Amino acid sequence: MFCESSKELAHFVSEARAFTNQGKVADYIPALGKANPHDLSIAIKYPDGRYVSAGDVKKKFTLQSISKVISLALVLSDHGPDYVFDKVGMEPTGDPFNSIAKLENMVPAKPLNPMINAGALVVTHMIEGKSVDARFQRLLAFIHDLTNDYTIDYCEQTAQSEYETADLNRALSYFLKQHGQIDEPVEHLIQLYTKQCAIEMNCLQLARIAMVFAQDGKDHETGKQIISKDIARICKTFMVTCGMYNASGEFAIKIGIPAKSGVSGGIMGAVPGKFGIGIFGPALDDKGNSIAGLKLLELLSKNYSLSMF
Ligand code: GLU
Repeated sequence: MFCESSKELAHFVSEARAFTNQGKVADYIPALGKANPHDLSIAIKYPDGRYVSAGDVKKKFTLQSISKVISLALVLSDHGPDYVFDKVGMEPTGDPFNSIAKLENMVPAKPLNPMINAGALVVTHMIEGKSVDARFQRLLAFIHDLTNDYTIDYCEQTAQSEYETADLNRALSYFLKQHGQIDEPVEHLIQLYTKQCAIEMNCLQLARIAMVFAQDGKDHETGKQIISKDIARICKTFMVTCGMYNASGEFAIKIGIPAKSGVSGGIMGAVPGKFGIGIFGPALDDKGNSIAGLKLLELLSKNYSLSMF
């Protein structure tokens, strides 16, 4: 049996919160630097509609890299795996998320996987639509389906803050463009990508998306199959192999659930066949994962034997 009461969950949150002192909020995107490092909240969403939660679960945060799983699911649905994996690989990398190093050694310049920035930029490039705005609205509509919440939008201030400072992502994009992996103006791609990363929600909404992935792409509450079972499987596999940056191996051993984190401090965890988890804890460790969020997942995984391995 998993955690059924919010009181039980609150106990784990207070234990994990102590670790926030050892982390730091990301500030390379200036808007993220304003977060309170001591925040920690979690929501668990069961397929029957129940939530168990602890902490300030209504607080909004931006998805950042968590959005990479969602854009991947969208382009896989639109184009199919053969098309997508012709342009982006399936292999984990031990490098930081924004590294350009491996890209130079690949011929053709094919990013190793869709969870690092180079791969995510190629994936975002594949979102269809006549304009940047139309493509963004398409992604947002997909998120509205996943959350069954049509109020979700992006944080303009965070998007702008990243847009003004995204020179590393510009460098990756120019490199990819020179090698024929993208064929649109780099500024358009950066506009779309920074808006994508700035999509904003709370832990409850994130847990609902995670629940859809956990339940093989089906939202049992509405009865809708939002993502095909195969695409949900591909996304969860990437979450296991590359979802937690260059700490994915350690995470698989210690915690063992498909998960994706972002530099805002969010973590989306999909426990296969069971439930979805949304976590927000902006103090990060040196790999870019929420330091208290990791501790919290470790406590939950140990106490309730959540590892899939
Ligand atoms: N928008 C961020 C970037 O590209 C996302 C990074 C992350 O969350 O890992 O730098």
